[in-house]
Amino acid sequence: MPVGHMIKFILTYQTAFWREKGFSGEIVAGSSTECPFCVTFDATSPSGNAALVGFIAGQQASQWSSKERGERREAVLSSLVKYLGPEARSFIHYEEKDWAKEDYSGGCPVNVMAPGLLTYYHPSLRKPCGRIHWAGTETATLWCGYMSGAVQAGQRAALEVLAELFPTSLTQEEQAAVQNKHSAEGGAKQTPTSKLRYLCTSKAVVIATLAISAAVLLARNQNAVLNTKAYFTNVFTTTRHKIFVL
Ligand SMILES: Cc1cc2nc3c(=O)[nH]c(=O)nc-3n(C[C@H](O)[C@H](O)[C@H](O)COP(=O)(O)OP(=O)(O)OC[C@H]3O[C@@H](n4cnc5c(N)ncnc54)[C@H](O)[C@@H]3O)c2cc1C
Repeated sequence: MPVGHMIKFILTYQTAFWREKGFSGEIVAGSSTECPFCVTFDATSPSGNAALVGFIAGQQASQWSSKERGERREAVLSSLVKYLGPEARSFIHYEEKDWAKEDYSGGCPVNVMAPGLLTYYHPSLRKPCGRIHWAGTETATLWCGYMSGAVQAGQRAALEVLAELFPTSLTQEEQAAVQNKHSAEGGAKQTPTSKLRYLCTSKAVVIATLAISAAVLLARNQNAVLNTKAYFTNVFTTTRHKIFVL
């Protein structure tokens, strides 16, 4: 699963000037060559330290990633001035992070499933492999890829393990949750299309190939059955003879 590309920036200010103007600080901008970011939010802390946070994402992140930090900052500021007014230039500090340049993350914020992955492999996403249970955010049913998904997946995997090791430690509700999960994944509804797809699996293809090969061989040599019978009779007689001699 490839990971997304995002550059995050934070600008701190003396005051949340946008609030004074009646703005929320949330800007959603379409893709353009001038404005690098796609979204910004008011990130003012509960104690009142004014800040704006924003993201340069996807294709724009790839384009802006190779430019100088100063050039990116200038483009961000120009766009903020356009949306919020000239006060946007009077910031205290600008900080940014290109997560694609981090060795161990390689991108941000989540991994993206390639087309077809969910369609064909979803029954295996949460299926334990022997004693291995999957707890990653990618196996979550809600907020897949995010922190909330990680918590949900972790709780589900912990319940699965407890159900295996100490089933009596689970409440009835928890046991039902594990049961429901198994029946939901084990007993997936079979539609005519899915049955047809199953028939076309490699097993069916191998069996059909063997059957066709056997039929062709038999057709080519009509005495094959008789020959085979004669061969085994011969082997049996010789072996019996050898045993007798010994
Ligand atoms: C840059 C960035 C920004 C993000 N921002 C947000 C955000 O704003 N909001 C949000 O909700 N989510 C965000 N996310 C996503 C969020 O971080 C993940 O959804 C969450 O951390 C996934 O948790 P997890 O437990 O599934 O996996 P992880 O947090 O990746 O934990 C897996 C752990 O397993 C360890 N591990 C791997 N292989 C092995 C091994 N073989 N043996 C032992 N240990 C191993 C790893 O070291 C790691 O500690 C962001 C992610 C990134 C990278």
